[in-house]
Amino acid sequence: MTAVEAEAREAGRDFIRDIVQADIDAGRVVWPVTRFPPEPNGYLHIGHAKSIALNFGVAEEFGGRCHLRFDDTNPTKEEQEYIDAIEADLKWLGFDWGKHLYHASDYFDQLYHWAEHLIRHRLAYVDDQSPEEMRASRGTLTEPGRDSPFRERGVKENLDLFRRMKAGEFPNGARVLRAKIDMASPNMNLRDPALYRILHATHPRTGDKWCIYPTYDFAHGQSDAIEGITHSICTLEFEDHRPLYDWLIEHLPVPSRPRQYEFARLNLTYTVMSKRFLKNLVDEGRVAGWDDPRMPTISGLRRRGVPAAAIRNFAKSVGVARANSVVDVGMFEHAVRDELNRIAVRRMAVLRPLKLVIENYPEAQSEELDAVNHPDDPDAGTRKLPFGRELYIERDDFMEDPPKNFFRLAPGREVRLRYAYFVTCREAVKNAAGEVTELRCTYDPLTKGGDAPDGRKVRGTIHWVSVAHSVPAEVRLYNPLFSRPDPGAGGDLMADLNPDSLEVLTGCRLEPALIADNDGAAVQFERLGYFCRDSDSAPGKPVFNRTIGLRDSYARRAAGA
Ligand code: ATP
Ligand code: MG
Repeated sequence: MTAVEAEAREAGRDFIRDIVQADIDAGRVVWPVTRFPPEPNGYLHIGHAKSIALNFGVAEEFGGRCHLRFDDTNPTKEEQEYIDAIEADLKWLGFDWGKHLYHASDYFDQLYHWAEHLIRHRLAYVDDQSPEEMRASRGTLTEPGRDSPFRERGVKENLDLFRRMKAGEFPNGARVLRAKIDMASPNMNLRDPALYRILHATHPRTGDKWCIYPTYDFAHGQSDAIEGITHSICTLEFEDHRPLYDWLIEHLPVPSRPRQYEFARLNLTYTVMSKRFLKNLVDEGRVAGWDDPRMPTISGLRRRGVPAAAIRNFAKSVGVARANSVVDVGMFEHAVRDELNRIAVRRMAVLRPLKLVIENYPEAQSEELDAVNHPDDPDAGTRKLPFGRELYIERDDFMEDPPKNFFRLAPGREVRLRYAYFVTCREAVKNAAGEVTELRCTYDPLTKGGDAPDGRKVRGTIHWVSVAHSVPAEVRLYNPLFSRPDPGAGGDLMADLNPDSLEVLTGCRLEPALIADNDGAAVQFERLGYFCRDSDSAPGKPVFNRTIGLRDSYARRAAGA
């Protein structure tokens, strides 16, 4: 390990990394083997990114490896589309599982044999009770459960019934295989938990080979053991499952002894991170799909223009703790702005155009002005910005009757046009309805690209594009998907959806360079925010997404409230 690596690790210390270090120091492991175990029943979201960064991060920092394992034990909810999307999202995020791609379904044969092993050791039995009966006899947190009437079945009968379950003789729900642990345990997970269920369903990978499927609890730890996982890192809701995890590892002839560690899941204000709920949004058409730029999914964030590095940096900055908490979404936005400010080239665009005519600029004339691509990065170079007699400026950069602190354009007021000249507003032309439709101005040719030779100052600088050279575009502005910081706290998540989460602007105008660079990279529209081209763009019909504004809108909202 280099000094730099040592320092980085020290800085990124947390209780999981301390455990791994202690295991290495004590010789319990040579290097850590971790896994990221998504269930392919939806797309990955920003919460998963925390788990991904932790599992892959620990493996990389300690010279170990991280597996990608699909937890595909429920064929009724899982689809190939999700598997493909999860792999694509992981790669885009910058994580690499190399050749270590696995599926819980790879182990169905082994898991089945281990189930028979438990039966033979009188540690599992087939229960004929209905799901309702089983629920009723499970007890509560304060009352012990009652033993099933089938609990003392002999080994022979259990084996016979289990094999017939496997052979497809019984309908869904008719029987389950349960571990024989303790119906009076204070831990509900130890009250004879289900290990196998009957489910007549075609599996994306194993087809119709199986009509019984292992439960999460039976599949997960054993899959860890098969793969030689040393640190099985999961979220806190599995803490109560750990005694069962350990019980199964202890009672089965597994090839290794993984251990489970729990950390707090990521929660974000204004955000919901349940795959089930996100799927509802998609299925009910409340959003345009899993990759709708308002979604907290990795694919939604990508389409919105959030760089992978911003997600990685954010995951690092929230750290890893044992106590649940809610992170202010402003912290995520900060990471996004930080990265975009670094990488995004600057461009000019006008979202709500108002025409400005420079009366003393010659009719047929136009010129090209130099504009820098990135103020902090001279290597990013410059571009040519076409300028002419007719321009568009932002409608709200003009006020007919401005308050004292408004320094932009107003009748008789002089401002600087970014990279161009000083202009003075002479007249606001109005239509019959009294709306301003055009500004008549004059310019000072001596102020080109700089200050006035006579030393007079202007207080406002505004952006603009040329009428003749700019390109029309649609721009989509996004507001939070939820209208309250704690969606669902009132009991109904759907009711908390923000009706104004999407604002579509048409007739926006872009400087030509925005069409010329066709790489879909992040751009800053000066004074407006960070944007990226959306995949809905068609030739001649560009569509841009606003990734994020330049300033923290959540903080402003909170201050205004
Ligand atoms: P959801 O509740 O959104 O359906 P899940 O936990 O059921 O999520 P899995 O596919 O099982 O989804 O998750 C894969 C891994 O990601 C698990 O180890 C899980 O603990 C972790 N994970 C899921 N959500 C979060 C989160 N919000 N923060 C951190 N880790 C998470
Ligand atoms: Mg899960």
